[in-house]
Amino acid sequence: LIDALHQGDPTGARKGPVGSERMILLAELREALLVEDQLVLAMQPAVELSTGAPIGAEALVRWHHPSRGLLAPDAFIEVVEHSDLVGPFSRYILDLALRIVSDWARGGLIMPVAVNLSARNLLEPELPQMVAAALARYGVPADRLVLEITETVMMDESPVIEEVLIGLRALGVRIAVDDFGTGYSSLTLLTRFQVDEVKVDRAFVSQMGHSPEAMAIVKTTVDLGRALGLRVVAEGVETAEQRATLIGMGCTAAQGYHFSPPLFPDKANAALVGLARA
Ligand code: C2E
Ligand code: CA
Ligand code: CA
Ligand code: CA
Repeated sequence: LIDALHQGDPTGARKGPVGSERMILLAELREALLVEDQLVLAMQPAVELSTGAPIGAEALVRWHHPSRGLLAPDAFIEVVEHSDLVGPFSRYILDLALRIVSDWARGGLIMPVAVNLSARNLLEPELPQMVAAALARYGVPADRLVLEITETVMMDESPVIEEVLIGLRALGVRIAVDDFGTGYSSLTLLTRFQVDEVKVDRAFVSQMGHSPEAMAIVKTTVDLGRALGLRVVAEGVETAEQRATLIGMGCTAAQGYHFSPPLFPDKANAALVGLARA
């Protein structure tokens, strides 16, 4: 019980490491941002559902921790998001992603990349400028970048967020709403912020076969996307059955192990070209 109390965040909102562990992780992350090759990106193809042809790739961060091995984002993202590293971290990830995209282009592979942003990044009035500078640095056209935000971002009343989203759209980058269905965003928000893409959370996709509710949520989102002219991407597609169900609903795009897991760039390159030929 004592342990539970000490670990306790009564809201349950915080996962991950606690107390001194967080402090150590933060110091190590600060270091990771200063050296090369600790923070790396795994790229997961997004595909056209009917053909399996790639339409982009999502950048998912991995950390080659000096003593703990390869860490998934769950082990550290939450710590980043509650620290002053949230800005520098996203800048670093954006640079890595754009470097990969410009390498691909040099090799003849024209493929957009999606980068995950933290909600707090959207509270930075300088974000559009920062993104513009990064695009220029790597010579990547703005429409080859998708920025993934979560629903909660749109629900925030802050006028800064609205300004930042308008600024990003003005650059020509595309905006995707990640984990759609897990928050409480409304139709109004989707239209007001003129997002380009909605990603249906894996939880619903994986439950489609078992839960009529999950099925209804996915179907409604697909219909909504079509009505509003948004691309709807089904996340976490793992089986041929799920793929068929989604195609039956009129969903056109997906991501998931059924098509490809996240891959380090050398392999991702080959997979994207391979999928394109398949
Ligand atoms: P997300 O943005 O929803 O990313 C999808 C997650 O689902 C990824 O986990 C991916 O590896 C996993 N996934 C993809 N297909 C399948 C599938 O078919 N089945 C299953 N079971 N899982 C699948 P990952 O890479 O561990 O990332 C977890 C979360 O960490 C991401 O969720 C995202 O919210 C966050 N994240 C990752 N990279 C970044 C980053 O660079 N910046 C920020 N702020 N957050 C990031
Ligand atoms: Ca995402
Ligand atoms: Ca997601
Ligand atoms: Ca997620």
